Amino acid sequence: MSLTGKTAVITGSNSGIGLGVARELAKAGINVVLNSYTDNAEDHALAAEIAAQTGVTARYIQADMSKGEDCRRLIADAGACDILVNNAGIQHVAPLEEFPGSKWDAIIAINLSSAFHTTAAAITGMRANGWGRIINIASAHGLTASPYKSAYVAAKHGVVGLTKTIGLETAQEPITCNAICPGYVLTPLVEAQIPDTMKEYDMTREEVIKNVMLKRQPSKEFATTEQLGGTALYLCSDAAAQVTGTTISVDGGWTAL
Ligand code: NAD
Repeated sequence: MSLTGKTAVITGSNSGIGLGVARELAKAGINVVLNSYTDNAEDHALAAEIAAQTGVTARYIQADMSKGEDCRRLIADAGACDILVNNAGIQHVAPLEEFPGSKWDAIIAINLSSAFHTTAAAITGMRANGWGRIINIASAHGLTASPYKSAYVAAKHGVVGLTKTIGLETAQEPITCNAICPGYVLTPLVEAQIPDTMKEYDMTREEVIKNVMLKRQPSKEFATTEQLGGTALYLCSDAAAQVTGTTISVDGGWTAL
C-alpha cells in the first residue's frame, strides 16, 4: 500500500515529538495536518515550511485536545484521516497529596481522553476507506511508574489499555492501532521539568540529565524525534500490517531493566 497521498492528523504537533513525527511522515509523501490549542502565525508557518520542504499538503488546525468536542472537530475539519497520531500531552510533577485536582483533570483529558475522542471520530472514515493506522504516543510511563507523576503514569497506562482495546475492535479489518512508548526525548516537555528537578534534588542541569532523567535509560542517550517519526512510519508500512494492539518501546532499554 503506497503511503503517498494519504493524510495523517497528528495532535499536539507544533513542537517536540509530534512535529518530528509530522516531518518524517511528510518526507514519505504523506499529507499532514498539524495541531495544537494555539492559533499563532508561527503554527501556520510550520505547516507551510513542511509543505515547501517536502511537496506534500500540510495544514495547521487549531483544536484544544482537553475538550472532547474540539477533538472530534479536528477530525471533521481535516477532511481525511488515514493515519491518526495521538500525541498531544502535558506533564505535571508533584507528590500525590499536593497534586492539584485541576492538573489531574487536564492530564487525563489531554493525554488520555483526547485519544478516545479523535479515534472514535476517525474510525468510521478509516472503515469506509478500507485502511487506517492509529498510533498513540504513550510512554515508558505507560509500562512502568515513577514517583510524583501520578496523573501522567495513570493516563499513559490508560493509553496502552485503550490501544489494546482498539486493536481488538479492528483486528479483522485493515486498520491497526499501536502505542509507541518513548523513554526520555529532549523536547520542551522534558526541558520544562529540569528546573523543578534541579531544585528538588539540589543538582545542576547536567546532574539532573545524567543522574535523574537518563538514570533509567541504559543507553544513556535521549531518543530523538526523528527516531520516533521513523517508528511511526514503520507502523504505517505494509511490514506492520499484523502489528496491532501492542506497544513498541523506543527507550534505550529502560523497560528491559
Ligand atoms: P512537547 O511539549 O514538545 O509537545 C506537546 C505537544 O502537545 C505540543 O505541540 C503542545 O502544543 C501540545 N498540546 C499541549 N496541550 C494541548 C492541548 N490542550 N491541545 C492540543 N495540543 C496540546 O512535548 P513532547 O515531549 O513532544 O510530548 C509529546 C508526547 O510524547 C506527549 O504525549 C508526551 O507525553 C509523550 N512523551 C514524551 C517523552 C519525552 O521524553 N519528551 C517521553 C515519553 C512520551
